[in-house]
Amino acid sequence: MTRHDIVLRGGRVIDPETGLDAICDVAISGQGITEIGTGLAPALTELDVAGHVVTAGFIDLHSHTADVAGLRLRALDGVTTALELEAGVSPVAMAYRQAGAEGRPVNYGFATSWALARMEAVAGVKLDGRLGTFLANIAAPAWQGFASPMEIGGILSRLSADLADGAIGIGVLIGYAPGTDPDEYLQVAALAAEAGVPTFTHARDLAELAPAALIDGAEEIVRAAGETGAHMHYCHINSTSLRHIDRVQDLVGRAQAAGSRISTEAYPYGAGMTGIGAAFLAPERLGERDLLPTDLTYAPTGEQVASEARLRELRAADPGGLVIVRHLDQENPADLAVLLRSLTFPDAVIASDAMPLTWPGPVPDQMTWPLPDGAFTHPRTAGTFARALRLLASAGGPVGAAGPLGLTETLRRSSLRPAQLLADRVPAMRRKGRIQPGCDADIVVFDPATVRDQATYQRSTRPSTGIRHVLVNGTVVVAEGEIVPGALPGKPVRAAPR
Ligand SMILES: [Zn+2]
Repeated sequence: MTRHDIVLRGGRVIDPETGLDAICDVAISGQGITEIGTGLAPALTELDVAGHVVTAGFIDLHSHTADVAGLRLRALDGVTTALELEAGVSPVAMAYRQAGAEGRPVNYGFATSWALARMEAVAGVKLDGRLGTFLANIAAPAWQGFASPMEIGGILSRLSADLADGAIGIGVLIGYAPGTDPDEYLQVAALAAEAGVPTFTHARDLAELAPAALIDGAEEIVRAAGETGAHMHYCHINSTSLRHIDRVQDLVGRAQAAGSRISTEAYPYGAGMTGIGAAFLAPERLGERDLLPTDLTYAPTGEQVASEARLRELRAADPGGLVIVRHLDQENPADLAVLLRSLTFPDAVIASDAMPLTWPGPVPDQMTWPLPDGAFTHPRTAGTFARALRLLASAGGPVGAAGPLGLTETLRRSSLRPAQLLADRVPAMRRKGRIQPGCDADIVVFDPATVRDQATYQRSTRPSTGIRHVLVNGTVVVAEGEIVPGALPGKPVRAAPR
């Protein structure tokens, strides 16, 4: 008789793909799930998970959190795969090499970055495989305007080189470069279509917000899907659509119904976070989003930005410094309803937009755990998936059938659906997002009565509670709600060569 490495015994096992929802055991050997059923043979490690939900670990398509410290917060929120797809990085080979050399607690992967390729081609920025290079140059006017045909050629060849190195798609931060010719965007989408990978877009401003924009941000994504046939993934549709969410989703829904490949994602918070030097945070443009300087909290000092003068000062001194941007008030029922519309849109996935940690002084070694005091981030970094469960699968009590989506559908949008969106070109995604024999043992075990996000805008790095065990490729990274210090079983996730 084969002896399993681990058996998760007596939990409520939910697999949104097969519809399995039953009390049973899950056996793991090596890196995979080997058997699911009742009364499975004893294992070397027996975990009694009665009363808990056992399901596929969450797959986050939108994570800017790159180091071990930040990714441990993600694991404590049930994440087993964290992908940097919206901003992307370049060269992706350097990013994969660095992550592989250091080790990661969860699986990782990267899209290539249109913004960084553009910074290189238009402004001569030297690329190093890190997001920090984008943030450091976010406010430089040189990369935000028109590019010449020769420069566009340089951008496309950098993107092609990264795709050949296994990039999962093309991240397009076009909302940060409002002077870009819409035709350049179509060329990037055409390249993605040819390579068979998705694009991941932070949309340009909507016409309602910035009437002078070269093209409406939602129309631009829909047009690219229609004209090029590319799979266009619409990132954080909540934070770029805000109160215009119905118009944007109607547009997307009609294009989907007509056969365009457009997918959407949202995160369950009313505030955003980005570099303070972003084009749309210029003092003269805050009014477009009904913002005041005081709606911004600057992460390095924790200060509420007091005035336009202070905003100008911070943008000049530290353009890549991260800032919380309060758009919607989660406590206001009308604003919460707006937020829920983006989360409950058919097939929309939950994706966090998790951010790097900002430290007030020297950055501690990334292996230091427990996390030292003082780090600041957006609460979505630590709390997105637990919060989605509370908002979408609960009416205040335990998570279950109640709430706007219910438990199984919320889980489907947190694991299976993101895996399916990438599966065409990323073989690993055919074995993830599912609790089935033969699939990777990326598993989250949580208590439906107590699972809850704990991170707030004031205490942004507080881990979620109720996430009891997390396994990545068969290795336990969270045991009894605590990080297992040496566990770095994360593997690279890449597109297959063509
Ligand atoms: Zn974004």
